Amino acid sequence: MTFREGGSFEGGRVRTRRGGVAAGGGIGLAIVAFLVYQLTGVDLSGELASLQQVTGAGAGGGQVGEVPECTAADANTNRECRLSATLYTLDAFWTDVSAAEGIAFDIPEAESFQGATTTGCGAASAAVGPFYCPADQTIYLDVSFFDELRTRFGAEGGPFAEMYVVAHEYGHHMQHLMGRMEGLDRRDTGPGSDGVRLELQADCYAGMWAHDAATRVDPDTGRTFLVPPTDEELAQALSAAEAIGDDHIQASSGGGVNPDTWTHGSSEQRQRWFTIGWNEGTLTACDTFATDDL
Ligand SMILES: [Zn+2]
Repeated sequence: MTFREGGSFEGGRVRTRRGGVAAGGGIGLAIVAFLVYQLTGVDLSGELASLQQVTGAGAGGGQVGEVPECTAADANTNRECRLSATLYTLDAFWTDVSAAEGIAFDIPEAESFQGATTTGCGAASAAVGPFYCPADQTIYLDVSFFDELRTRFGAEGGPFAEMYVVAHEYGHHMQHLMGRMEGLDRRDTGPGSDGVRLELQADCYAGMWAHDAATRVDPDTGRTFLVPPTDEELAQALSAAEAIGDDHIQASSGGGVNPDTWTHGSSEQRQRWFTIGWNEGTLTACDTFATDDL
């Protein structure tokens, strides 16, 4: 999916951090706790806060800036402009859904970082991958993960895969606002666990956004924000969902596939729920907690 050229996007939506350095002996512990958070989608910020006090772990620093104003044409070639533009389309979509559904809406913050960073959930290094921190309502995206997507999907598929990841993390923000992250069973990690349901719901929300972004008309230009994807591009989005599925990650890491440790759902499940979001476009259709048919 590409942005329709002609429009532009204001600067300041995305914070950038370059050259952040992990510091303190406790960083390993903080990362381990983070991984648990990221994989299970539950809020470990309380635990991390105490961990921080005990270990004195810190990270961050580096050069902080923001993504400047950029055009839709830039969004098609420049990663950070694309990130910023994608967030604007997500803001517009979820503002409308929230108004219709009576959800008290706040836009999430976003940080694109390289190396390491400090978050409301503790210290993080780029090894963590993209994640959402409920404590500071911020989506954190590390540049190296996007490099990996580019390597995996190429110049054609990479950009949409990036947008999909942003939309998935934004989905976690919406779950946070709707109270969906409360009362989850944090220990259960099987195929039908709360963690898997949470992740598949975020994929479904990403599908809702993708369909909206492809069909929503910008009142300023009278045209859609995004060029509606071709079947091929949609297939790329689905292969991104597939490649990020836990079973795939496990298989390619040489550890074999073990359904008992799935926390994001299988490739097939992730594709299916993205498609349900795309086709149905409602929060009700995306209620992965209300069905046994995951
Ligand atoms: Zn997730």
